Amino acid sequence: MDTITLSNLLFPDVTMTPEELEEKFPPRNVPEGAVVTRMAPSPTGFVHLGNLVQGLTSERLAHQTGGVLFLRVEDTDAKREVPGAVEVLINTLKHYGIFFDEGATIDGDQGDYGPYRQRQRAAIYHVYAKKLVAEGMAYPCFCTEEELAAMREKQEANKETTGYYGKYAMWRDRSEEDIRAQLDAGHPWVLRFRSTGNIANQFKFNDLVKGELTITENDIDHVLLKSDGIPTYHFAHAVDDHLMRTTHVVRGDEWLPTLPFHIQLFKALGFKLPKYVHIGPLMKMDGTSKRKLSKRKDPELALTFYKAEGFPVEAVYEYIMTLLNSNYEDWRRANPTAPATDFKFSPKKLNPAGNLFDYAKLMDVSKNEISRMSAEKVYTLLLEWAREFDPDFAEKLAADPAYATSILAIGRGGKKPRKDLATWNEAKPYMGFFYDEYMQKPDFGDKFSKDIIISVLNKFLATYDFADDSTVWFDKVKAITAEIGFTADMKAYKADPTAFPGTVADVSAFIRLAVTGKTNSPDLYTVMQILGYDRTVARIRAAVQALAD
Ligand code: GLU
Repeated sequence: MDTITLSNLLFPDVTMTPEELEEKFPPRNVPEGAVVTRMAPSPTGFVHLGNLVQGLTSERLAHQTGGVLFLRVEDTDAKREVPGAVEVLINTLKHYGIFFDEGATIDGDQGDYGPYRQRQRAAIYHVYAKKLVAEGMAYPCFCTEEELAAMREKQEANKETTGYYGKYAMWRDRSEEDIRAQLDAGHPWVLRFRSTGNIANQFKFNDLVKGELTITENDIDHVLLKSDGIPTYHFAHAVDDHLMRTTHVVRGDEWLPTLPFHIQLFKALGFKLPKYVHIGPLMKMDGTSKRKLSKRKDPELALTFYKAEGFPVEAVYEYIMTLLNSNYEDWRRANPTAPATDFKFSPKKLNPAGNLFDYAKLMDVSKNEISRMSAEKVYTLLLEWAREFDPDFAEKLAADPAYATSILAIGRGGKKPRKDLATWNEAKPYMGFFYDEYMQKPDFGDKFSKDIIISVLNKFLATYDFADDSTVWFDKVKAITAEIGFTADMKAYKADPTAFPGTVADVSAFIRLAVTGKTNSPDLYTVMQILGYDRTVARIRAAVQALAD
């Protein structure tokens, strides 16, 4: 059978031509050198840090060159699709500030190069499938699962490369009679690419991250269309990225092994090859060795984890920038308040081997990020987080915004702001004592006698004046220290600890414990000022009472 007849037989419904599609999706009107790129995730319901790494890379490349970033939903694998996953994907990326110029949105597709959901593009793929068949570059394969399994077994037994190639490509050159018989019997078929590649041939290829690669030609007749007429990733990648006029393909390097096939496919289709930016995996230290972050083992791979922990979006964004471009941190030190988008992002600075994800570093970055925020901003973000993840705390925060903000203002501003919080999840342990319901009962330990502690607290109550400034306040604490025979001279104490029963630090600790229930707190004078006279005194009295009981 001639190939034109075969193409009509396989695709009787295709009426459009590739030329019409070329016209419908013309080259984009973007400035010279502008990057047109996309994020093309599969809606599996799981959005991970890797998506964000790729998303940010694409976003920066597109927007810093005046180009276009679009979102394409790769939903060809209906089996893996989870209901609502597209919405989760779109909302999560939005939450992390990845802004798309066009593509799939919650309210449908936006843009002139759609549809942007692959299942809605079946008719488009068929146009090119028909063309390939007509030109002798693709053919139907009627192999059953069993036949393919037997083939694989045989190849393994012979220690040969597995796959559908060369002499194993059973349907490559079958007679018209055989093909018609199968079609007439209504047997399912897949469309395969007729590879002309030879694994003895190699060529050089330049990847924007990996640098120069030596590529071995592909000789496998890969599947282009599955038996339901839906394309494989490979075929959809070529057709979509061509028609959507993608200039740069940013994707995970798990696609490198099939890159030879993609290059071949673009050529067979007469498409210009885009540039490739293959991103290495995210890894973590496991004991002394590195391994890829795994969905099964590492909860920190899921973006929902960062939201639930309460990492501000800015912090995650900032941390990923430090991962992606090694010179980002230096730039940040020199430009502490500049928007991250001022940084000149370069794909060449991406680590070809992938990045080591360092949770402790993320915490550090986040601490810095939060320490630079205004108390009002911290309040807003914390409340937003608490509304979703700790409604009880949210209620308390919302009941008196001015009070909560004054707590969050402690140690803020100035050259060396306090760095108490890395996540919103840490806020309650840090500041919960400001709310009576969250105040823990003080544990004074047994290093000092109850009488001493009671006497310190009573003396403090006797002289405490809310109007005192912090110096007068501390002078009074020192006076109590002297009265009970402790020392305020820390140097002398360090030189001979046996010479004194205790120090001013112990005296402060008794008062701190009584007022905050904790051994650690921000500046105690300020804490009391925020708590107010009545609450401070009531807490100290309660502690005295509890000690006396
Ligand atoms: N759907 C593919 C994935 O999720 C997209 C890869 C690409 O960006 O081309 O891995």
